[in-house]
Amino acid sequence: MNLSLSRRSALRMLASLAASRTIAHAQWDPARRYGPPRTTRRLQVGSSTLQVEFATGALDLSDDVVMKRIETAAHAVATYYGSFPVPRTRIFIVPVADRSGVVQGTTWGDVGGWPAFTRIRLGQHTSPQELAADWTITHELVHLAFPSLPDDQHWMEEGLATYIEPIARVQTGELPAKQIWSDMLDGMRKGEPQPGDEGLDRTHTWGRTYWGGALFCLVADVEIRVATGNRKGLEHALRAIVTAGGTIDHDWPLPRALEIGDGATGTRVLTQQYRKWSTSPAPVDLAKLWQQLGVQHSGSDVELSASATYAKIRDAITTAKA
Ligand SMILES: [Zn+2]
Repeated sequence: MNLSLSRRSALRMLASLAASRTIAHAQWDPARRYGPPRTTRRLQVGSSTLQVEFATGALDLSDDVVMKRIETAAHAVATYYGSFPVPRTRIFIVPVADRSGVVQGTTWGDVGGWPAFTRIRLGQHTSPQELAADWTITHELVHLAFPSLPDDQHWMEEGLATYIEPIARVQTGELPAKQIWSDMLDGMRKGEPQPGDEGLDRTHTWGRTYWGGALFCLVADVEIRVATGNRKGLEHALRAIVTAGGTIDHDWPLPRALEIGDGATGTRVLTQQYRKWSTSPAPVDLAKLWQQLGVQHSGSDVELSASATYAKIRDAITTAKA
């Protein structure tokens, strides 16, 4: 099975379902909708506790295999952020009859006394291979590591999760770097502004929300590394935001988070880029960026050039930090 193709088709499907939204302070009680869980398990990731509840319904997969996948996803997020972003969280696994694969993920902040609540709708006939290739659970857990934003900045929440999920998985050895650069080469152009675009805060299309947000993150990551001689990157900014209390259970205006992020890198990259991209199209010269990063097509494959101007920056992005 082609992992990158499945990622792409899954991203398209996710959009058509309008899935994976983060909604702060949801007031609903999952137990009321799904009944009491058939079983509850706990997972320790560093000093954080993940409570995983399985709703009733048939699953071909064993609970152990599902727990292992969640542990792998949580480990990737903890690696990128230096530690798991919230002290405890709740994950609800809902079997979906007659389907296979992870059907949908949704994460809410501040639910029933928990900092976050993630619902994963998991197909009854999901195979261990399909679950091992899943990106959804990692994407959802990335959402925990940023404050909830007003609707107009939803692109930042989805852009971060779209950009960081694959990088975190390379940092832990789950995916090869070449694969995610290949996916970005294919995906980032979908985030470019189209005619009539009024900037990320005012253009709420699927392309601008997921890939436009991801493109914002990629450009910022590269700019921070250029400005700091490759000593700091986007993850240093994002770790500082989490440390300052900017997690999904808190509502923040985006500029507050970006100020803290810039403070951690000693730059103004995030604040200035947001000023430019939020209310005007700000197209990116992607051909030039890929050339600088040394990511290029080679037949049907992608090649990473060691001699490109930003080759070290490219490698730093996918290297785990202490
Ligand atoms: Zn999402």
